[in-house]
Order: sequence, then structure tokens, then C-alpha cells
Amino acid sequence: MTDELLHIDQKIIEILKTVSDPEIPVLSIVDMGVVRAAKMNDDVVEVQITPTYSGCPAMDVIGDDIISAFNQNGLKAKVELVLSPAWTTDWITAEGRKALEKYGIASPLSADADKEALLGNKKIVKCPQCGSLNTKLVSQFGSTACKALFQCDDCLEPFDYFKCLK
Ligand SMILES: [Zn+2]
Repeated sequence: MTDELLHIDQKIIEILKTVSDPEIPVLSIVDMGVVRAAKMNDDVVEVQITPTYSGCPAMDVIGDDIISAFNQNGLKAKVELVLSPAWTTDWITAEGRKALEKYGIASPLSADADKEALLGNKKIVKCPQCGSLNTKLVSQFGSTACKALFQCDDCLEPFDYFKCLK
């Protein structure tokens, strides 16, 4: 969690935590590290979010979801996209990584390791089912453009890997 977030009113955080990435319902946008800042300005909550990568169609949905989540709590909200600094997978919280694995999605590696994994050069993506590193890339595109499809050679389960998109 970034320093700015610590200053956000607890109520605002609670509401933001009810909004999740439409592609990964178990991961709130707070745990995903997408929320940069949020503050009350008069009676409007101003929320700044950084897209996981530019052009991610999920971001429009997230913006609308944030506004409706605040509306449901009787608050008005405004969403602003902040493109710099760019989102990195380091911003996913520890809680978020756990949620991903529970959901059967392997957490992203660092940017360099990510490239190796997506080229199929190295066995570094951990199977979220059994923890084995004996996994192979099946397709660079999984169920959505933000994920790649892997398969575990030990438990034979296919699984999504959340790509480190820049
Ligand atoms: Zn496995």
C-alpha cells in the first residue's frame, strides 16, 4: 500500500475494496495496486487510478464501477486516470497475490523474468494448484489478453498466469 493510501479515509477504502477487476473478481482494485489516491473534495470523492496497462478495456469498466460503488453509498465520485508512473506488478499487495493464487492464477513475476517465462525460456512460473515449477507455456494469450495460459506437468492442470504488462 502506498503512503498516499494511508491517508485515505477508512470508509473510502472500504468502498474501493468492494470494486474488483472485472477479469479477476477476487482481486479488489486496492489489492491490485490500481488506486493511486482518493480524497473528498467538497462532497465529491476524487479517485485516481493507474491502468494495469494502457488500453486495458477493463479500466473503463473499473471507472464506472467505482462511481456506482460510491453512488450506492450516497456519495458522488469522480475518477481520473493517472498514466505516470506506470503501474507495475510490484504494486499488487501480498493479500492480492494470495487472492490470485487461491483463484488459480499465478502471480506475475518481475518484468525481466516475465519475458523469459512468456518466451518459454525458463521454468519459473509456479503452478497455483500444486506449487510445482515444472510448468510450460501453452499460449501467450489465456482467457483474456491480460493473461497467458500455462500447464503444469506435475498435476497436469492448466492455469492462467497474470502477465506483467507494461
Ligand atoms: Zn501443478
